[in-house]
Amino acid sequence: MRITRKVFTDLALFMMAFGLAIGTVFPFFIVLLGVPAQIAFTPTFFSACISAGLIAGLVNYSISRKVVGERLQTLSRVGQQMRTLAQNMRSEQDLSSNSMPASVAELKDLCGERGCHIKVDSDDEFGKSAEAFNLLAETLSLTISTERAAHSFSNMLSNHLDLEPLAKVAIRQLMEFTDSTGGLLAVVDQGLLKLAACEVIANGDEVIQSSLIKEAVNSRKRQLINLPEDCLITVDHVVGTHQARHIIVEPAIYKGVALGVMVLVAEQAYGQEILHRLTMFRLDLGLALNNSLTHGRMRVLATLDPLTEIYNRGFGLKRLHEEYSRAVRADTPIGLIIFDIDDFKQINDTYGHLLGDRVLVSVVKSARRMLREGDILIRYGGEEFLVILPGANLDDVGQVAERIRRAVADMTIMEGEHAIRQTISLGGVSHPHLNVSHEEILVRHADASLYYAKRSGKNRVELDRNPLH
Ligand code: GH3
Ligand code: MG
Ligand code: MG
Repeated sequence: MRITRKVFTDLALFMMAFGLAIGTVFPFFIVLLGVPAQIAFTPTFFSACISAGLIAGLVNYSISRKVVGERLQTLSRVGQQMRTLAQNMRSEQDLSSNSMPASVAELKDLCGERGCHIKVDSDDEFGKSAEAFNLLAETLSLTISTERAAHSFSNMLSNHLDLEPLAKVAIRQLMEFTDSTGGLLAVVDQGLLKLAACEVIANGDEVIQSSLIKEAVNSRKRQLINLPEDCLITVDHVVGTHQARHIIVEPAIYKGVALGVMVLVAEQAYGQEILHRLTMFRLDLGLALNNSLTHGRMRVLATLDPLTEIYNRGFGLKRLHEEYSRAVRADTPIGLIIFDIDDFKQINDTYGHLLGDRVLVSVVKSARRMLREGDILIRYGGEEFLVILPGANLDDVGQVAERIRRAVADMTIMEGEHAIRQTISLGGVSHPHLNVSHEEILVRHADASLYYAKRSGKNRVELDRNPLH
């Protein structure tokens, strides 16, 4: 029943009309009850009744306005807050398309300065509306902050491709977003868990060996652990070391395969919203870990020779350039050996290519054993290898080359009943003994020395031969 677009104007009109009607009808009513018509039907009495009716209508209106109006302000506040919330959410969406806040701490209150909460002070429809609004605002705020956190997290992940920095920032953000005091991230590498990043937890290496962690990886399911007093995780704090009581073990999964696991620890129990948040993060982390591990594998593939698993020619020559430049800068010697398997074609022709491959792998293993840490072995060509010896003068080069030659000559490879023996020839040089201006010249001289070793009967070492002679 509406007359105007304002409820209180309608109410006033209805109350006054009702007062007017009552005032008009009242004289007739009292005549029916026996009051003499001469008294009831006088203009004065009519005016008095109508005035009384109008006054009663006015008073009714004022009381209603006072009682209902105050309560209606609650609804009005709900409306205002909803508008602020909606505006802030819109600007939030614009913001998220540009840059995201780095942390939850930076998230501003979506309802403005007064906050989203509306006081609930009655059990009626008004109170219920306020209650419903509070719930809605809380849920929205939570959803948005979770979404922002997830967005910020995946943004951060997409900036890192190398495993170590990725794991480090990932675990730091996860700790922040989940109010954790410590955390670690381990990746599955050839069936074993390897620690990729560890924050605050003192015994990370021990933790990832625990059966609980392995169970989480195998089952690909989150494990929540609430420990009484003593537990396996020790958290380092500024004031000392204490043990964490609440632990989340969350596997990072990509396409159904557990690529790693994150462990988060806290003193207080984790709430539902944090667990929900973690579910969102887990998807991003799985994808990022997969990209990072694939990138790592690709990089290894791009640098290693697949058969012998030593550096390939392309990457090896880059390393030679780096080592040569470093030696020149530091004014230290650098040695270089080239060796080539003797009569290898014959091995292939007699026993087949597969055995030839086995010989190649065995020669590499024998040579590797004769090298120190920092020496670099490269597959330079089919059955030709380069050895970079940082810090080695010509004497050192001669000794290492002779050790390699002997190690290969001493090894036997069994093919059925045949014991196959193999020899190599080696050429070696050293800078600055041979004072060169470029590492390529060093390679050329080493090659010339190898050629000389071949010419002089094979299975021998030749040093510092000039290619022009
Ligand atoms: P020399 O003593 O003069 O070095 O004689 P050689 O027979 O070793 O020399 P040559 O360069 O004529 O032969 C090299 C052979 O190495 C030819 C090629 O088929 C073989 N070879 C190169 N790469 C591989 C490989 O990856 N596996 C196998 N099985 N053989 C290879
Ligand atoms: Mg050869
Ligand atoms: Mg050759």
